[in-house]
Amino acid sequence: MNQPTRQTQPKRRTHPDGPVAVIGAGPFGLSTAAHLRAGGIPVRVFGEPMVSWRDHMPAGMLLKSTPAASSIDAPQPGHTLADYCDAVGTPRLVTDEDIIPVETFIGYGDWFQQRLVPELERVRVVSVDRRPAGGFELKLDSGELFSARAVVVATGLSGLAHLPPELAGAAPDGPSPAAAVSHSSQHHDLTRYEGKDVVVVGAGQSALETAVLVAEAGARVRVVSRGTGRVAFGAPPWGQPRLRPESPFGRAWSLWALSYYPHPYRYLPARTRHFLVRRVLGPLGAWWLRERFEDAVEVREVAAVTGAGIREGRPVLTVRTAAGRAAELTADHVIAATGYRVDIAAMDFLGHELRTDLAVSRGTPKLGAGYVSSVPGLYFTGLPAASSYGPVMRFVCGTEFASPRLARHLAAAHGGDV
Ligand SMILES: Cc1cc2nc3c(=O)[nH]c(=O)nc-3n(C[C@H](O)[C@H](O)[C@H](O)COP(=O)(O)OP(=O)(O)OC[C@H]3O[C@@H](n4cnc5c(N)ncnc54)[C@H](O)[C@@H]3O)c2cc1C
Repeated sequence: MNQPTRQTQPKRRTHPDGPVAVIGAGPFGLSTAAHLRAGGIPVRVFGEPMVSWRDHMPAGMLLKSTPAASSIDAPQPGHTLADYCDAVGTPRLVTDEDIIPVETFIGYGDWFQQRLVPELERVRVVSVDRRPAGGFELKLDSGELFSARAVVVATGLSGLAHLPPELAGAAPDGPSPAAAVSHSSQHHDLTRYEGKDVVVVGAGQSALETAVLVAEAGARVRVVSRGTGRVAFGAPPWGQPRLRPESPFGRAWSLWALSYYPHPYRYLPARTRHFLVRRVLGPLGAWWLRERFEDAVEVREVAAVTGAGIREGRPVLTVRTAAGRAAELTADHVIAATGYRVDIAAMDFLGHELRTDLAVSRGTPKLGAGYVSSVPGLYFTGLPAASSYGPVMRFVCGTEFASPRLARHLAAAHGGDV
């Protein structure tokens, strides 16, 4: 692999209220930090680079997004996924039929970080509070306290894994790979289930791909899809309807509008916004997964999972069948591939007073222009911004819309020239 080349550092200006703190070193945090740095805004960036991809997704996973939708937005050219492939000498991933291994994407994120955010600090932010004089006070897990003039929360999936209450009865001490029930985010190496009987609850790409990888590791696997979440797969690139506009997620007018015009999204009624975030680009397996899935995984479509417990050390799910009857499913282990829920209450690094002051809608921060929250100087990007800017914020390609706008707003409000 080629040695990453460091970019020349832009000129920094000092500011009496301190630098801008970016919390998060996944695609959104790195992209935002790169834009702020390019504008000469002093920034401190915290987090483990690409940790959600490295530790909370299964080894061997392939990205559902196409190469065109998988670049981390940078303020200068030369930092796309294809540029990374050229730099390290792997075959260029560019067409919709090129599938991206998660390991390649992690390598790309690390490369992006080393080139554009070299000063990343691999520490956790323990608390963020407002300072009476303006700005914020942050505490790091190194014990350091410092002041920041503005804070960007880009903590992505961290701490937001969702276990539905009906599964909680089989996870009295919380989900864990070693217990009866785990959440899909708790897995990297799935070979531990070789020879076991595993149930995966969910019908999204994460559920279907986890099921395939567990089956390929030598387990017997059943997928339990609930309610309207039927198991289905998208059309391959050559089967997409030609008369609809292209978007990073496929050809459809709705996807095109949500991808390229997220500006008006926050003016939609709250009910519509929350519904679209959940449903658009919702449960649908990638086209290339179908064959591997159909050969290896059994599907059980049920009206609902109504409860769960443990009998003789094994998880037992109680389900209501489509015909309205109660039935039981027993396994050695249940993996809940039941997604993530944004909830400000779960972001416990934000001080209590700050969380109380934030305007929220169903637990998610209400954001204005430029991704600023109701607390001046406090910004959110990535998944927590999806209820304000739409489902595209759940995906890497959302950085293209979010990062330059957030950086411009922050520069105008808190000094800088992005
Ligand atoms: C199984 C799975 C498959 C996916 N596949 C795709 C795909 O194919 N294409 C796509 O576009 N998207 C995909 N996604 C969505 C993808 O995860 C997000 O788009 C992306 O990771 C969001 O990036 P982020 O920077 O917002 O957060 P993350 O990547 O989750 O990064 C969070 C960062 O915050 C840091 N952090 C958290 N708390 C603190 C703290 N207190 N102090 C300091 N740092 C902190 C972490 O260390 C980390 O660096 C997938 C998601 C899952 C679960």
